[in-house]
Amino acid sequence: MSVRAGIVVTGTEVLTGRVQDRNGPWLADRLLELGVELGHITLCGDRPADIEAQLRFLAEQGVDLIITSGGLGPTADDMTVEIVSRFCGRELVLDAGLEATIGDIVTRLMARFPDVDAEAVIAANRKQALVPAGAVILDPVGTAPGVVVPGTPTVVVLPGPPRELQPMWQTAVATPEVQAAIAGRTHYRQQTIRMFGLPESGLAETLRDAERSVAGFDRLEITTCLRRGELEIVTRYEPESEEAAAAYAGLLDVLRERHGRALFSEDGALVDDQIAGLLAGRRIATAESCTAGLLAARLTERAGSSAYVAGGVVVYSNAAKTDLLGVDAALIDEHGAVSEPVAEAMAAGVLQRFGADTAVAITGIAGPGGGSEAKPVGTVCFSVALTEGATLTRTMRLPGDRSDVRERSTTVALHLLRRALTGDS
Ligand code: ATP
Ligand code: MG
Repeated sequence: MSVRAGIVVTGTEVLTGRVQDRNGPWLADRLLELGVELGHITLCGDRPADIEAQLRFLAEQGVDLIITSGGLGPTADDMTVEIVSRFCGRELVLDAGLEATIGDIVTRLMARFPDVDAEAVIAANRKQALVPAGAVILDPVGTAPGVVVPGTPTVVVLPGPPRELQPMWQTAVATPEVQAAIAGRTHYRQQTIRMFGLPESGLAETLRDAERSVAGFDRLEITTCLRRGELEIVTRYEPESEEAAAAYAGLLDVLRERHGRALFSEDGALVDDQIAGLLAGRRIATAESCTAGLLAARLTERAGSSAYVAGGVVVYSNAAKTDLLGVDAALIDEHGAVSEPVAEAMAAGVLQRFGADTAVAITGIAGPGGGSEAKPVGTVCFSVALTEGATLTRTMRLPGDRSDVRERSTTVALHLLRRALTGDS
């Protein structure tokens, strides 16, 4: 028997697209990890009748668990707890302990705003201390408490801001009430592998062959998707089944044999994580034109205090390439700014300017309107230089609009860097 769940995302700002929903996808990942099957994510504004309709819809689908996001604040348009309470047929009751907790939080917060009447704010927040009778209270991460209302379905009510929702979900899932609601779930094993440089169609063909050659293949549930130019392959199977485990091992063998070079991660690690490991103890500098610093930004996401990123420059004009990185003006004239010789000269220049031991240069045409017949929009030249000698230079034609080309370029750059640093060129 499997356990099913639904998520109700509320908030007019999310419905209108002003704020992009981050809670639905995040909760979807957590449910997948738990082995709870997610049936629906519904989205509506702050209107009580709409929220109630979604709760009713999910209950009619027979889900075991409903999670709501948003609408827990002190203002009049924040009504989720009240609506859920009514939906679950429970009275709203004032929780004295919770009222005191919220009062403390608000008093501390108000100390920073001496001109605001703290009493009035506390009165407004009293509404947040009203909870459905018999519900489990999830202590506020911000000022808004969440609740777990046990029943069929069990309803978990969480706040909208992701930084509040995420820790509160971890608290909610640990409660006996949520554990009871998801008790019948299947604990799947999940493995993620990543490939780069292989089209999705190539993988599809290999999977079709594997279906015939690998015994027990049908015990594997495989989903593939293309993200940032990389193929992500997620496989789930029942952990107690030796046949399924053997089938997964067989699948991995086929992928290694057919696509060994493209297969860069067997443990789900992202190329960003691998690069962070490879750069430990090194010093990298970047020179970017069309990506405008996005590679440097992506590298620093993992750098933390280990500080392997020395820095980077964005050199858009030819003059900047010459003045800042010492790229020979004649070289640019002869080959054009988007060319392998210029990419190499940029990498060499930035390596020297930053006293780094590793450098990556990107020069390309992200468009629109910048291309020519010989070098259409999406033409991007990459060069990786290491002080120990190796240089790796490539030209790619990347599809999509400017932001696609930019994002894809940073991915390509990281993969070239990985090849240079592992000596796999
Ligand atoms: P608050 O006390 O902050 O009002 P709340 O639980 O009432 O909390 P909402 O009013 O629904 O939450 O949303 C507050 C803010 O949190 C939104 O303006 C938005 O910035 C962010 N937020 C809400 N829902 C989401 C979501 N699904 N994805 C991303 N951000 C969200
Ligand atoms: Mg609100």
